[in-house]
Amino acid sequence: MDVVAGSFFLAAGLLAAQPAAAPSHADLLRGNYGEPRANNDLLSYDLRVRVDPAKKFLSGENTIRFRMLRDGARIQLDLSETLKVEKILLGKTELKYERDSGAVFVDFPKMLKKGRTYSVEFFYSGYPKELGRFGGMTFKKDPAGRDWITTSCEDDGASVWWPNKDQWRDEVESMRLRVAVPNGLMDVSNGRFAGKKDLGDGYTEWDWKVHYPINNYDVALNIADYAHFSDKMGKLTLDYYVLPENLGKAKVQFAQVKPMMQAYQHYFGEYPFIKDGYKLVEVPYSGMEHQSAVAYGNKYENGYLGRDWAGVGISKKFDFIIIHESGHEWFGNAVTAADMSDMWIHEGWTTYMEGLYVEYLYGKPDAIRYLNGLKSHLKNDRPIVVSDADGKTIHGTNQQPTQDMYFKGALMINTLRSVVDDDAKWFELIHGFYQEFKYRNILTEDVVSYFNAHTGMDLTPIFDQYLRHVAIPALELKFAPGEVSYRWKADVKGFAMPVKVGDPDKWETIHPTEEWQTMKTSLGRDEFKVATDLYFVKVTKE
Ligand SMILES: [Zn+2]
Repeated sequence: MDVVAGSFFLAAGLLAAQPAAAPSHADLLRGNYGEPRANNDLLSYDLRVRVDPAKKFLSGENTIRFRMLRDGARIQLDLSETLKVEKILLGKTELKYERDSGAVFVDFPKMLKKGRTYSVEFFYSGYPKELGRFGGMTFKKDPAGRDWITTSCEDDGASVWWPNKDQWRDEVESMRLRVAVPNGLMDVSNGRFAGKKDLGDGYTEWDWKVHYPINNYDVALNIADYAHFSDKMGKLTLDYYVLPENLGKAKVQFAQVKPMMQAYQHYFGEYPFIKDGYKLVEVPYSGMEHQSAVAYGNKYENGYLGRDWAGVGISKKFDFIIIHESGHEWFGNAVTAADMSDMWIHEGWTTYMEGLYVEYLYGKPDAIRYLNGLKSHLKNDRPIVVSDADGKTIHGTNQQPTQDMYFKGALMINTLRSVVDDDAKWFELIHGFYQEFKYRNILTEDVVSYFNAHTGMDLTPIFDQYLRHVAIPALELKFAPGEVSYRWKADVKGFAMPVKVGDPDKWETIHPTEEWQTMKTSLGRDEFKVATDLYFVKVTKE
């Protein structure tokens, strides 16, 4: 998703490190992957929903198919407390259930058997509450006064508007969405359009099929009187849905999609959801990475809501929302974090992809300037993986990491490139990393293992320092006539990382550790530089 671009963001930068708020009972139910979730593996959703704009009311059913991994008589599904459970069926049997905040524990009269596949039909209805930065589900009007109804629920969870197994670790393999809306409106959801049907009661049902694994929060409704235009890139279909009055502007602005696709396919490989195609859909909020149906609300302007986002004169060359949210198709949607604690895998990598897009179009020096420009957004308030004081990940609490995960994540990845110090090898590594984990749900440990195995280096202390601690490594320099002593100061025991120092026209690579070492130099205290654009580090000189 996009980052907070308001003044709150800047003001918060002045505050000291803030501990994360303690998770609520509802957060623990949402975040925890306990037995009633772990005993089953999702296979598919078949969601059918009717949206009444006049009443701001929803009703529908989700058929949830899953395989039991162990014997069990209870599973956990989720639905916001504000919505009503009508009934839950296994075949013709109405199942008992127990609600606890957003969780719905479903009880089966007989033990479900390990290895067998089951389907439950979950009927629900109600008035979804608007909440969060993106609204969860909102019933708005477009500027011409027509209905404009959208969902966006990464923060609050997909169960704010539909029943599902609302967590990050397990995804369905495929999904069908049938959305009934009043005639004259259109629903654009994820996947491939499979037809529409006039229901004969003033409603038309729009049918969408998702052919890939999908995160719950990526599943989206976009209901409006959209105008549609399309294009192709080889076998990849590009479809665009915008408010009719913005058709002209969209045709100009969305020309940025092809170079974006070329850049990302160059570095990582084929667009991950070819069978579903790529779509941009206009929404009333800034944007969101809804899989194969990316939400767009950047007002047809370059930069981020018109601003020079990185502050170095590069952001205005492209539309931040197209470049950022589409990057998530690779990192976030194809490669997915298995727990919200490790969300930097989505946001850090996608922010780094913005840099790669700049590099592909404008060259490496601009990419380095762009990524370093993002330092102005850092708050340095908390570690970017949700961690305890010892740097251990806290899984299962539904806590979103600090927004530093975008910038510090990207700057750490840029630092790793300098540690590898061989661009051909680096690009092979990140291509291999994506290919290894696409369509999978992973944790930080998987990322670290991959890079250790494929570089032959022990990068664990570097990842740990950047991800699990607030401070970045500090290079301490002590000058004496004709020489300089150096060492790292870091939280992680045994921290070691090469770094380039000396004269920027002919950098010299040194290998500092936590112990003092000394090198000869003809440069004085002020002439002796550290390549802080290539390595995200602090430098102290005495
Ligand atoms: Zn994002």
